[in-house]
Amino acid sequence: MSKRQFKAESKKLLDLMVNSIYTNKDIFLRELISNANDALDKLYYESLTNKKLKVDKKKLKITLDIDKDKRLLTIEDNGIGMNKEELAENLGTIAKSGSLAFKEALEKNDKVNIIGQFGVGFYSSFMVADQVTVESKKAGDSEAYCWISKGADGYEITESDKEDYGTKITLHIKEGTKEEDFDKYLEEFKIQSLIKKYSDYISYPITMFTYDEEKKEKTESDPINHMIPLWKKNKKKIKEEEYNNFYQEKFFDYTKPLKVIHTSAEGLVSYDALLFIPANPPYDFYTKEYKKGLELYSDGVLIMDKCEDLLPDYLGFVKGVVDSPDLSLNISREILQQSRQLKMIAKNIEKKIVKELTDMLADDRDTYEKFFKTFGMNIKYGVYDNFGAKKEELKDLLLFYSSKEKKNITLKEYVSKMDKEADTIYYACGETIDKIDLLPQVENLKEKKKEVLYLTDYIDEFVLKILEKYEDKKFVNIASNDFDLSSEEEKEALKKKNEEAKDMFTYMQKELGDEVAEIRFTNKLKKHPLCLTSEGNVSVEMQKVMSAMPNDQHIHAKVVLEINEDHPIANKLSELYKGDKEALKKYTKILYDEARLIEGLPVENPTELSNLVCEFLSK
Ligand code: ADP
Repeated sequence: MSKRQFKAESKKLLDLMVNSIYTNKDIFLRELISNANDALDKLYYESLTNKKLKVDKKKLKITLDIDKDKRLLTIEDNGIGMNKEELAENLGTIAKSGSLAFKEALEKNDKVNIIGQFGVGFYSSFMVADQVTVESKKAGDSEAYCWISKGADGYEITESDKEDYGTKITLHIKEGTKEEDFDKYLEEFKIQSLIKKYSDYISYPITMFTYDEEKKEKTESDPINHMIPLWKKNKKKIKEEEYNNFYQEKFFDYTKPLKVIHTSAEGLVSYDALLFIPANPPYDFYTKEYKKGLELYSDGVLIMDKCEDLLPDYLGFVKGVVDSPDLSLNISREILQQSRQLKMIAKNIEKKIVKELTDMLADDRDTYEKFFKTFGMNIKYGVYDNFGAKKEELKDLLLFYSSKEKKNITLKEYVSKMDKEADTIYYACGETIDKIDLLPQVENLKEKKKEVLYLTDYIDEFVLKILEKYEDKKFVNIASNDFDLSSEEEKEALKKKNEEAKDMFTYMQKELGDEVAEIRFTNKLKKHPLCLTSEGNVSVEMQKVMSAMPNDQHIHAKVVLEINEDHPIANKLSELYKGDKEALKKYTKILYDEARLIEGLPVENPTELSNLVCEFLSK
């Protein structure tokens, strides 16, 4: 039998496992048991539609055996099994190896992430074993095969005389070293305690062959695990650690969940749901590969491992399981989607999650802040999506940075501090808090002791536009022209000044072309010379977002170049208009480019700008 090679990534991962310095090697057992559990689920599920497979659910189980002398630990299941091709395919490649994130983690030798986030599954056996043998017979087939490997140098597949369906994995446990004790994995007690710790909820019995002193032979033990799925257990009796272990193992996360939501309902539709809000985004969360969804069970038997319809898009980060006896097991995907029960469950679950988040915001602000930092974008997306269909339910979950508080606040908090007669919520947009803080318009408002919300996410302004109002208070972008805090006299004086300068501004505007809707003097800027504002519905920030989208429709903000009437530059311009029109043209270009830079917009021709500035600098 010739040796077959592992695929490149698999080999790398195997090398990592063989030489692993990862401390928690115990997890190999739960990975193997979890695979066995899946195989049993698959067989049972398949037997519901394939009548040729006669399966007695009561007989499905996982059995462990230890041979101390030969240093062997065996994990056997009578599940679906694998044929020859599947052995090569499933054990010769890593399922996740296709993902970019995974490849990157491998490149960086990022062991914690690889093991924690991706779940190395079967390969983790090489952390404790120097040889792994997998004998398997696919349910319904007549031939059995044996896969054997000592690690990264490849594997062999031969025929096997295994009689029963299922998979038997035999680990030859590594010899112990000074630093590391592998002998413990040959101790019954250690293995039993690992089963209890990590695999207690597995719904099939896990038994073990143990030596019976009286009979002088090995006998099969009673199930070591409780077999009650965690979500069906009494909430009061579940320790936090159990929830965390369950989550980390099932959803391949090395950090504890930020929030556990365990809920059940009885009535029109009954179900148990165990939901988790992760502390960090799943590794592939921002890729196209990511699929939202919850595991769906019918009375403890898996129907679907990612039921998308159970979660609205904006809650796509939520992980968990839902179990309902009201759903039929052999329901097809299409019919399931139409199922009234499923829709009701989904609706209830969404409500429950939103309620839990609302409570978290009220009772545990720090945790909520963490949540919002990680998944706030999702909440914003939820508000915005579907033309704001969910905005009422979600608006109080939004946080924005406040110029006054120097931290995140809710819209409710903003409004609660407003004067009674005030009707405006002020906001400003920019790339970062620091940059917004330096915007000329912001400085002006701060002096007037007004609170300004700083919007740094590209979606923020769209969200406020969808909300339209909050408790009858309108939102105003302080960089837009709807915004004016000056008195009637001041307005009048400014108007006059602008009328006088009208010809000059028209002249300057010609120099800038269609890009600029208007140039004018302003009294809004304190010590700053100029700023760029927008007119109409599309703000400069929104334009930035829209032009970055693939279907850029070239919607442009109508920009207005505003020049501080009190700044010396204002007089300078008038002087030039009278005396040196050529210089005025150049000034106009520089000023406009400056205003764009302040707003975080690109400058059309940086070389031209640089040349002009240097021309004046050298005078
Ligand atoms: P994962 O379980 O995350 O897919 P693994 O590396 O643990 O990754 O396993 C790879 C594949 O090998 C599984 O998806 C499954 O198809 C197959 N497999 C592993 N163990 C068993 C088993 N005991 N019975 C049947 N198939 C198995």
